[in-house]
Amino acid sequence: MWQLQFMDRAIALAEEAALAGEVPVGAVVTRNGEVIGEAHNAPRETCDPTAHAEILALRRAAHALGSDRLADCELWVTLEPCAMCAGAIVHARIDKLYYAASDPKGGAVEHGARVFEQPGCLHRPEVYSGMGEARAGEVLREFFRQRR
Ligand SMILES: [Zn+2]
Repeated sequence: MWQLQFMDRAIALAEEAALAGEVPVGAVVTRNGEVIGEAHNAPRETCDPTAHAEILALRRAAHALGSDRLADCELWVTLEPCAMCAGAIVHARIDKLYYAASDPKGGAVEHGARVFEQPGCLHRPEVYSGMGEARAGEVLREFFRQRR
């Protein structure tokens, strides 16, 4: 299934992040079944607290399209987006969000701030969660186990 292929790619990016010593989260932006931007979490490497996988992938996709609006695009990410990334997803007008693992502590889609459910939210993507959850969660758990 092509959808699984994109989540697989996001998980592979998360594994790359772990090897680089970054919290393992990966993100892929697609349009018409093609990858137009992808990234892994990189705040340490870039000394940039905003360098979450989703932000970097959205930025690359927007450059690739030559537009700040990513309508008709899908974002695939291995972990439930935080409030900052959920806000960026709104600004980018992402059509569909797919995320693998839930994040009850830092997530802001189905937990915490629930950004898309706020009355002032300008755009609400369709949200699908759980695809690839077991593997994405295992990559995160393994990372934190090794750090302890
Ligand atoms: Zn984030």
